[in-house]
Amino acid sequence: MWMELGVLDDHPHLTHARFGVYHDLCGVTLHLWRDPDRLEAHLSEISPPDAALIAELCAAIRVFRDMDMPMDRAFELLSLADWIGIFARNMPMIMAHRRFSTVSLRDFAQRLQHPALRGMLEHFWHADMSMQFFLMQMGFAAKGTAAYPLGGSGPFIDRLVARAEQSGTTLVTGARVASVITDAGRACGVMLEDGQRIEARHVIAACDAETVFSRLLADQPSLRPSELDALDRFPPLCYFSGGVTHEFGDIPSSMMGHNIALHPPLDMGPTRHTRATVQIYTFDKTVSPESGTLLTAMLESDYDWWKELRRGGAERYDAERGRVAEQIIAALDHLYPGLAGSVVFSDLATPLTFERYTGNHRGAYEGWLPTPAAAQVKLPTHFKEIENFWMAGHWVAPGGGMPPAAYTGRNAIQLICAQEGRRFRVSRP
Ligand SMILES: Cc1cc2nc3c(=O)[nH]c(=O)nc-3n(C[C@H](O)[C@H](O)[C@H](O)COP(=O)(O)OP(=O)(O)OC[C@H]3O[C@@H](n4cnc5c(N)ncnc54)[C@H](O)[C@@H]3O)c2cc1C
Repeated sequence: MWMELGVLDDHPHLTHARFGVYHDLCGVTLHLWRDPDRLEAHLSEISPPDAALIAELCAAIRVFRDMDMPMDRAFELLSLADWIGIFARNMPMIMAHRRFSTVSLRDFAQRLQHPALRGMLEHFWHADMSMQFFLMQMGFAAKGTAAYPLGGSGPFIDRLVARAEQSGTTLVTGARVASVITDAGRACGVMLEDGQRIEARHVIAACDAETVFSRLLADQPSLRPSELDALDRFPPLCYFSGGVTHEFGDIPSSMMGHNIALHPPLDMGPTRHTRATVQIYTFDKTVSPESGTLLTAMLESDYDWWKELRRGGAERYDAERGRVAEQIIAALDHLYPGLAGSVVFSDLATPLTFERYTGNHRGAYEGWLPTPAAAQVKLPTHFKEIENFWMAGHWVAPGGGMPPAAYTGRNAIQLICAQEGRRFRVSRP
């Protein structure tokens, strides 16, 4: 898929050996190896009493690594024979799905005896995520299909834009859609906030679900799927980035980064943070000058608190952003002494920043949280009440992320092709 979208081709990407690194308070460092054999050996050595549970976990990672799902076609277009084949080929995965989709990372972690192992699972990402989501991520990593494109998201987007334009797409930026225009139960274009009307045979909404149902289709409130009420959104983020000239030496690189303890803990409004996941980009020198390294850190944060702060004026809001950035730097300095003195720049994006740039409701950065409840939900992407209207993006695939953003878009176009009796074809640049 990424080859077809022109973002990989021969562009270098890095398949880290580790998914993440967890530093516990007692000096234990856990490596979340993407090779399940290595992971099993490593974790069992750290905690022999947990060996049976670790073996179960790693066996499930292998099952998700080996699953064989047809990701290149919208499920609606699969035939009965396709489904029989999928079931026949994926029985172990279907069993593992049943077993782990109803259990959260937090619940599974409670079964482990070693506190560092428990901490690693609970801080892998979000403790309320289902184990099935975690295992899928680990399975993709084990297979080598989850990778980091060198240069990060900026050049990735540039290549995506170039490919779209080469294929004849006209991209309009800086324009907000105010509503979807419908006529006799059929979508036939969009109305921009500046009053401009754009006619279209089909409309694909690839933006925030709440915006779609409460604003873009405000005249059809019954369309809002009731399933949405059962789902939780990803909590919004504070995202720190900084440039340092500090020499890190040979530190282990990973997909997610280092989960570290914060000394002292960081208070942000109602939330006390005792840990943060920090990415240290020593593995990608293209994102910083030769003499420096990029650092980023992700912390979940309270949307209402930042909103209230911003209402109080830009000065207080910016001062708080500065304070949080400084505390993150101080915590990193605790782990890497001397780092604070080498900071060249730092910045903090808040939940309001993400909301402003993406329109995602309350800054939720990856749509719906893949909780056990979400694993039972299949969200509609089109509606019988409104023809030629489709939805794509992370709000129709709980768990979100770039792969669902891309494949739900492709699914929408496949369904349009099927409706219009046209063959769906892809090419590579
Ligand atoms: C800090 C951070 C790190 C992440 N890391 C990863 C990662 O490592 N791997 C991964 O897979 N995912 C990652 N994600 C998540 C990933 O970026 C998202 O899930 C993905 O971008 C979702 O794509 P999307 O197209 O569905 O929505 P978005 O990227 O949110 O795009 C929606 C677009 O719609 C536009 N829009 C909204 N409303 C309107 C309107 N009314 N009119 C016109 N346009 C509108 C917005 O401006 C925006 O351009 C990360 C996200 C963040 C914030």
